[in-house]
Amino acid sequence: MQKIHIVSNRLPFSIKEDGENITLEASVGGLATGMKSIYKDYGGTWIGWPGIDSDTISNDKMEAIDNLFIEEKCASVHLNSEEIHLFYEGFSNRTIWPLFHYFTQFADFNQEDWETYKAVNQKFADAAIETMDDGDAVWVHDYQLLLVPEMIKSKKPNVTIGFFLHIPFPSYEVFRMLPWRKEIIKGMLGADLIGFHTYDYERHFFSCVRRLFGYEISFNQIHIEERIIIADSFPMGIDYEKFLKSAQEVGMKSITEKSELHKELDKYFLSSPDRKLILSIDRLDYTKGIPNRLKAFARFLEKYPEFRQKVTLIMLAVPSRGQVDHYQQLKKEVDELVGQINGAYGSINYTPIWYFYRSLPFNNLIELYSSCDVALITPVRDGMNLVAKEYVASRINNTGALILSEMAGVAKEMGEALLINPVDDEEMADCIHQALTMPVDEQKSRMSFMKERIQRYDVFKWANEFIKSLKKAESIQTDFL
Ligand code: UDP
Repeated sequence: MQKIHIVSNRLPFSIKEDGENITLEASVGGLATGMKSIYKDYGGTWIGWPGIDSDTISNDKMEAIDNLFIEEKCASVHLNSEEIHLFYEGFSNRTIWPLFHYFTQFADFNQEDWETYKAVNQKFADAAIETMDDGDAVWVHDYQLLLVPEMIKSKKPNVTIGFFLHIPFPSYEVFRMLPWRKEIIKGMLGADLIGFHTYDYERHFFSCVRRLFGYEISFNQIHIEERIIIADSFPMGIDYEKFLKSAQEVGMKSITEKSELHKELDKYFLSSPDRKLILSIDRLDYTKGIPNRLKAFARFLEKYPEFRQKVTLIMLAVPSRGQVDHYQQLKKEVDELVGQINGAYGSINYTPIWYFYRSLPFNNLIELYSSCDVALITPVRDGMNLVAKEYVASRINNTGALILSEMAGVAKEMGEALLINPVDDEEMADCIHQALTMPVDEQKSRMSFMKERIQRYDVFKWANEFIKSLKKAESIQTDFL
């Protein structure tokens, strides 16, 4: 294996403009963190979309931006307004996203979206092919680029291809609804190694391969004529040390160094010693179970009135995909529910839900993770859910309780969390009560087990394990030929 390249929908930098001056700012998200060492250490290039609509800027400016990316060893794939609309908002977020998260009623099946998805996948594949030499490897990411592995393999059979899906892979009974189901599987099978967060997703994938193509599968290998394809699960981790260290620093800050948010949190606890905070953080996405969570919190306040005035839910909802109508409707529903609950249970000096519709800087996130007694993470479907891992990593004294949906991929690694069915209001309300009254020894015991696991399998280990398997896949292929 000579070089390892990365292909993902977005490049790991955002573009900052200050008058005439354009600069790139490195992303701090999970994927960017995990991949940074891989593509730099292996001398590869990161291929992706820079995040701007090429119809809205001049050619000169685009070229200047491309050059900045080249300095960072990135190659830009340009997308125009129509492509962003049909490929990204359309097929990726209106077809694959809802279908793979079991929201079949939200999935659109639109031929024009599909044609554009194919064409844009070909653009990404061509950019990768141009960058690669025989003997190199490439790691392709996620549901926007499901066809890219086969598109690369057909033109460059002598490169090793890895593909990782960051969202769930659904059961065959759901997947079969997709009119282009065979093309999608064929696209993925261009890879030599296919990774999923959990064994369940891997199993669903095998079942689709078997039922749609009848290929022979033994253990975790798919045999197709002259090729062997490996599928495996690699649960993605976080940068554990970064969260732990930042949480330790937050704990040591003097009053003058504290952020406004942190001072507010201190004030809340000082106002009454038995006050508690529950935390909820996600993108405002219908998969995250936000309305159900709010209803369960209301049910908790109704069923356990002794906790009124004492427990506040901090709900951070990060704006997301506002161009897609289901997201606009969800925003309205959430706004209304928060208003109703605050109206029903609030008073002059008590607001049951502090609702923030925005994103917060990293330091504020750590302050929230460190200050909240309970994290309430209840997606109706989620590929992994990194927020759950970040909360656990930030609990420096091992106190706190995690309420977690069994429908999140992360639940497979968090047996010590309070696992709930995210549509069961009654169970969730009782679980909130259990979490708030959990003895400290029990909190510590549960938290320390989870922490140890997250520390051991962090995002760097995740990336390295995938690369190790990619090298194995390369050698199996060579032996086989
Ligand atoms: N996050 C963030 N800013 C915020 C709130 C959250 O950057 O204001 C991050 C959070 O730290 C986490 C990610 O967004 O790393 C969300 O990842 P997750 O896997 O939980 O869900 P996704 O949004 O990928 O579906």
